[in-house]
Amino acid sequence: MDFLPIFMNMRGRLALVVGGGEVATRKVALLREAGAKVRLVSPDLSSALRDQFAAGGMEYRAGSFSEADLDGVSLVIAATDNTEVNAEVARLADARALPVNVVDNAEAGNFIMPSIIDRSPVQIAVSTGGSSPVLARLLRAHLESTIPSTYGRLAQLVERFRDAVKTRFGDVNARRKFWESILQGEVAELIFSGKHDDAESSLEKAIAAGGAEHAGEVYLVGGGPGDPDLLTFRALRLMQQADVIVYDRLISAEVLDMCRRDAHRIYVGKERDNHSVPQDQINQLLVDLAKEGKRVCRLKGGDPFVFGRGGEEIDTLTANGVNFQVVPGITAALGTAAYAGIPLTHRDYSQAAVFVTGHLKDNTMNLNWPALAQPNQTVVFYMGLKGLPVICAKLMEHGLPAETPIALVQQATTPRQRVFTGTLGGMPEQIQKVEIKPPTLIIVGNVVKLHDKLKWFVSPAEEAAQG
Ligand code: SAH
Repeated sequence: MDFLPIFMNMRGRLALVVGGGEVATRKVALLREAGAKVRLVSPDLSSALRDQFAAGGMEYRAGSFSEADLDGVSLVIAATDNTEVNAEVARLADARALPVNVVDNAEAGNFIMPSIIDRSPVQIAVSTGGSSPVLARLLRAHLESTIPSTYGRLAQLVERFRDAVKTRFGDVNARRKFWESILQGEVAELIFSGKHDDAESSLEKAIAAGGAEHAGEVYLVGGGPGDPDLLTFRALRLMQQADVIVYDRLISAEVLDMCRRDAHRIYVGKERDNHSVPQDQINQLLVDLAKEGKRVCRLKGGDPFVFGRGGEEIDTLTANGVNFQVVPGITAALGTAAYAGIPLTHRDYSQAAVFVTGHLKDNTMNLNWPALAQPNQTVVFYMGLKGLPVICAKLMEHGLPAETPIALVQQATTPRQRVFTGTLGGMPEQIQKVEIKPPTLIIVGNVVKLHDKLKWFVSPAEEAAQG
């Protein structure tokens, strides 16, 4: 170990920053956040520093560094763009046994600054010992994405109840077990989803009962259109925490792969004409699993509240008093638009976008066709592949020209994505010659013309098809 990682209490102590540029500005801000008093020495100041100084609470001496600037100081940061000045600051500070950091030069000082993830009071500091600040930053980004931004709130709650828990559980092991169950269970989830009062009362109950009740809960999670990179941080966290994953056909193998390895997976796959598990049974399954004390991730394609029947599922949960949270996902229309290079709105072509279901019932579609067959709008059909001939015929019947552009996008955002473009008049015949695999989204409107110019994502399937 080349460096000793420590967290230093700077509250009310004096720190010297030498330099007045951008880097010094960042260091001054950080020191002040940590409650330090700052002495700034530099011939001139960045405008941000000038503002900070004007706001008060800071010493500033205009001029070059001199040894007397070190008097009464507990920590030193050399942040000028002059190597010799920085070296001189470091030499004199070190001679006084003061901790001194030279920005961007690990060896010149006697301590280095880490990359920080701040969830105060929780703090995580990352360092590569000065060997690669970029790597430290990447690691930091990785950690930022997996640690909920409200972690600090959780730590504050724990802090407030520490004594009560100490009194309740005399034994250290019992205490540790108790906190482990709290920090990985309902109380933590309540904090992360913003229900602070509920979290507190749940914790109080657990203390009184001598342990956390293993109340199950359901996470209704939007898994996005297929590319696992499009998951939200929260979706990923809950997918990795759940004991059971209940998923259907729209969930791509790549997304499913991101779930906790040892989680029990239940497939309730729905196909267009063949609901392998009826909706009411899915609703009941979620309730039953939660009542067994399981943390259930109900993973849905796209967004749970866009043609996802998410509303019905949580309706049953509410009726049965099961705790749940809903995590939005990127709906197919947005994923498709981005990955096919078809903006849904565009100043010149379309001022509105409408999402409708193209699901066939008794070979018809009961839709407001006059409203859909309007110029200057984009109409996105979910579940419309089978009903494509009806969609094209009805839109033309209600006034859209036969040349109106239309796109079919198969398995958007995945390695299997394929885009077929054509016209309302020609598409039904055109696609007879190709095999299209669901899920497929249909986009109708002049924005489809932009695809040729804006397409940027060419999937392996598309490459193979083009030879
Ligand atoms: N809740 C989902 C939609 C469920 S309805 C969402 O928000 O995306 C199912 C329909 O969504 C499919 O019939 C298809 O039209 C569309 N769909 C879902 N994922 C898709 C994908 N990766 N590519 C193309 N269409 C998709």
